[in-house]
Amino acid sequence: MKIKEDVLKAILEEMPVAPPEAGGILGGREDIISICFADNGGNTLGCSYIPDVKKLNIIIKQWEKNKYYFMGIFHVHFFCVDTLSEGDIKYMERIMHAMPETIRKLYFPLVVQPHTKCVPYVAYKEKEGKILIRQDELEIL
Ligand SMILES: [Zn+2]
Repeated sequence: MKIKEDVLKAILEEMPVAPPEAGGILGGREDIISICFADNGGNTLGCSYIPDVKKLNIIIKQWEKNKYYFMGIFHVHFFCVDTLSEGDIKYMERIMHAMPETIRKLYFPLVVQPHTKCVPYVAYKEKEGKILIRQDELEIL
């Protein structure tokens, strides 16, 4: 996952150090993340981050006007948990299936507290519609 240094800094700094979970969306062009928008989620009852899809879609439309494209979703984990939960994986698969055919890859980095570490994951949509998820290298530009 290639990301501009200022964007990485912004997502790390915006994430809370204690529950409830928060997150946001990532955008850019030519496979480089160069823009982000933090969101405290549409649901404050549970402790899992649930994006406010309506709000985020408005942001994505604004980005597209400036030729920035949706590239993924980040969210925060607490207590050093740097692996995806079952809920995370289900959610990622749902998002990948909802994407238009032109989007075959999205990034799902975690911001892991308390050390505010970024752990990137990437999801690919394969030809048969299967979703492949793996951890990725962090490349700061
Ligand atoms: Zn999670």
